[in-house]
Amino acid sequence: MSSNDKPATITGGCLCESVRYTVTFPPDHDFENSCTTCQCEQCRKNTGSLIFRSHKLPKSAVEFTAKSTLKLYSATPHCERGFCSDCGSFLFWQRDNRDYTCLTVGCFDEPVLAKYGPLLTTAKRHLFCGREVPGVTDHLAGAKFAADDE
Ligand SMILES: [Zn+2]
Ligand SMILES: [Zn+2]
Repeated sequence: MSSNDKPATITGGCLCESVRYTVTFPPDHDFENSCTTCQCEQCRKNTGSLIFRSHKLPKSAVEFTAKSTLKLYSATPHCERGFCSDCGSFLFWQRDNRDYTCLTVGCFDEPVLAKYGPLLTTAKRHLFCGREVPGVTDHLAGAKFAADDE
């Protein structure tokens, strides 16, 4: 894949557009390996979706251009889930003591997904597979980690 096929920046945000962000990818960003699923129950319930996918980036790569309704929820100490307190969109997952964040790929803007979707949303790594639900969420191909991949 040539570098022309990789975005320099992308935009995204919540459903009601009270939270908006621009991502500027670092020059050495590993597009192929940064999207993961998380099979934990927290992500399942937080998204209301059986398969949750996020894209991992340095926190410094994300600039919020609007965030008046952005709130954080912690289901586990040091783990923050960013969401819009008006429309409920789940925007990211991160640890308060790490320099990365994991943006929910469904909140990337549709033109971004239309142009770069396979690069940004193909998950070859699956986290917290200790919580896979047999016959429901255990069918994905790729590298499986019992918990986090740190
Ligand atoms: Zn919103
Ligand atoms: Zn999870």
